[in-house]
Amino acid sequence: MQKRDDKQIAREFWLRQGRQFLAIAVALFLVLLMAVVYKRHDLFGEFEKNTLVAAQLVVIAAFIGFTAFNWRCPSCKKYLGKDISKRICRHCKTRLR
Ligand SMILES: [Zn+2]
Repeated sequence: MQKRDDKQIAREFWLRQGRQFLAIAVALFLVLLMAVVYKRHDLFGEFEKNTLVAAQLVVIAAFIGFTAFNWRCPSCKKYLGKDISKRICRHCKTRLR
């Protein structure tokens, strides 16, 4: 029984980690894209700087919100902290992988 739980936790952690990497990639891409859009008026047309800064803030806020929802221990549901390659939850000491 214990072994099966460990497997489920490892699998759920793996899924959460995958989603987290994807969210980082998407957030970085969008923030960089908006910086490029601002620099290359010739390619993308004129955008108000304030519009792009606001859009970047929305992306960052969405990323923080997603992280707060996703980046949690599968066992105790507490936030896992900054280290994305964690092995053990610092709250409940569950092995994550
Ligand atoms: Zn935990």
